[in-house]
Amino acid sequence: MTQPRTAAANYIGRFAPSPTGLLHFGSLLAALASYLDARSRQGRWLVRMEDLDPPREVPGAADQILKTLEAFGFEWDGPVWYQSQRLEHYHQVLQQLIDSGAAYGCDCSRSQILMRNSRIYDGYCRHRQPIESDLPLAIRLCVDDETIAFTDAIQGPQRQQLATEVGDFVIRRRDGLFAYQLAVVVDDAAQGVNQVVRGYDLLDSTARQIHLQRRLELPTPGYAHIPILVNDQGQKLSKQTYASAIDAANPGPSLFQALLLLGQQPPPSLRQAQAHEILTWGCEHWQLRQIPRQPHLPESLLETEHR
Ligand code: GLU
Repeated sequence: MTQPRTAAANYIGRFAPSPTGLLHFGSLLAALASYLDARSRQGRWLVRMEDLDPPREVPGAADQILKTLEAFGFEWDGPVWYQSQRLEHYHQVLQQLIDSGAAYGCDCSRSQILMRNSRIYDGYCRHRQPIESDLPLAIRLCVDDETIAFTDAIQGPQRQQLATEVGDFVIRRRDGLFAYQLAVVVDDAAQGVNQVVRGYDLLDSTARQIHLQRRLELPTPGYAHIPILVNDQGQKLSKQTYASAIDAANPGPSLFQALLLLGQQPPPSLRQAQAHEILTWGCEHWQLRQIPRQPHLPESLLETEHR
């Protein structure tokens, strides 16, 4: 059984792309599912640019992503948030966690951790004072023995024991950049997001985010993880796997295909329709429970022109 979902009038959802490349079909699925789930329940839908990692970003990608979303007929509420403009908020929260003893500095290198035999960080720096050198320290959040359990609205009941499966995890990296886990929790709460619909690859991060929400006494949103599109080698479509960008000049057919992959049953007459008609149909007929309950969808399900 899935947990009760938020009352329609209060729904706030979001799409949170990282501008590490242009939108490809995999990201279209996440945009469309989060959009339709919000709009079909009279909710708000926000767009947040997760531009926290400049070395991985592609110049111009953020603007291109927004243009593509517009061309596909997606309309977001309020201004787009940019995480690069929110660093002082992450700083404050980081300091609060350090001051309360929930987080600590760590100077262990990856090879030192490996040499101590563990895939999972062993808490080595929890009780020592690491030396600040030229590099800043990484900051890790302490996890405890508790098992985090939640029910994903698509994938069903989930449990993760952070202490044995994850370990104290990094919330600010040694290169000084804030980690995704910290920023996503701070911003989902700051924006009042109460329903997160995103790709299955982030299911494994959810317990960490819930743990951090509890530490910060923030509410936990509902979560729904849609299957991700993978290539013939089973790899997630991404810039690294050379996924091609979706065609902003002709959005209708891609939206139609995306609806099919998400288990919806658009009538064949919509195949040649304009983007806005397809979105309107989607809002009226959206059924989250028809989304395939599985981690991956092979890209071969897509008609060739969309690959
Ligand atoms: N920025 C993340 C990504 O593009 C998504 C984060 C999220 O939805 O929580 O994969």
